[in-house]
Amino acid sequence: MANDSSLSRPRLMHFHLCTHCGSTFRREQYEGRALTSGIFPCQKCGLEGPLNITIQEVDEDDSSA
Ligand SMILES: [Zn+2]
Repeated sequence: MANDSSLSRPRLMHFHLCTHCGSTFRREQYEGRALTSGIFPCQKCGLEGPLNITIQEVDEDDSSA
């Protein structure tokens, strides 16, 4: 076991799951418009669908920038 827990900190985050192509997108990217309209515009397949929230465990890597 490597002692690198300080480098990788998995946490649970909300994602929008596209009902058409199955792609997932960070919830923060759609705060506002998608949440108020109830429609999720997928940036990958271009189709719109109902909000389909999923929770995934991701690594915290936003501090690299
Ligand atoms: Zn899609």
